[in-house]
Amino acid sequence: MKKAFLFIYIMFINFVTMSQNTIVAHRGAWKTQKLPENSIASMLHAVALGCYGSEFDVHLTADNVLVINHDDKYHDMVIEKSTLEDLRKFPLSNGEKLPTLKAFFLAYKTKKTKTRLICEIKPVSSDEKALQIVELTLAMVKDLKLTSKVDYISFDYRIVKNLKKLNPKAHVQYLNGEKSPADLHADGVDGLDYHFSVFKKKPEWITEAKSLKMSLNAWTVNDEATIKWFLDNKFDQITTNEPELALMLEKGKKK
Ligand code: MG
Repeated sequence: MKKAFLFIYIMFINFVTMSQNTIVAHRGAWKTQKLPENSIASMLHAVALGCYGSEFDVHLTADNVLVINHDDKYHDMVIEKSTLEDLRKFPLSNGEKLPTLKAFFLAYKTKKTKTRLICEIKPVSSDEKALQIVELTLAMVKDLKLTSKVDYISFDYRIVKNLKKLNPKAHVQYLNGEKSPADLHADGVDGLDYHFSVFKKKPEWITEAKSLKMSLNAWTVNDEATIKWFLDNKFDQITTNEPELALMLEKGKKK
């Protein structure tokens, strides 16, 4: 009986492992479908492709609403100094309203998926805001019961540290590229998500991160040769504007 259970368990684990990939769609999967970046539609397309993750960028408005956009400006308005109402006067190119984090999460929750949400919290202008944006984001994730689905990245080291302080179990990677794996590890940070050129210049950081059991991610890896280089170096995630190509290359390697 025990043997039968073990056999089924191993088959199940093999199935799960086989169906996993490392590809993170940068700002969602937008390119081939001509969708706006950082839209609900591009996130849902990353889910439909079965990507490991869909990345998106979070800002806080002047009236304390978390919204999704890449730049700190939207239609020439500084997001941090504008209200949601003013920002939403301008729809995205596919007609979607500028997504709030809540609307984005609710749309994600309509899907039963393994695709993870890779939440980039954008740099802010003060220590107070670095705390506020983390508190609000973590509260939203908790309220919508998405704690097990969301990982975090940031260029702002105050935000990285606040995430680990307020939720030690959250998986957090640093983006800016100047800190060694050992320095990040000493601060309790889980991984490195650096521009691909950093790892090409400092391949010893790949070895160092792996020996410290830290996760490795690289952005934004778009050409075939570079995608293959990161697949060969067994990165945990590869962030790309070309998720279809990257998924195909990864699938080809596993054959
Ligand atoms: Mg981003």
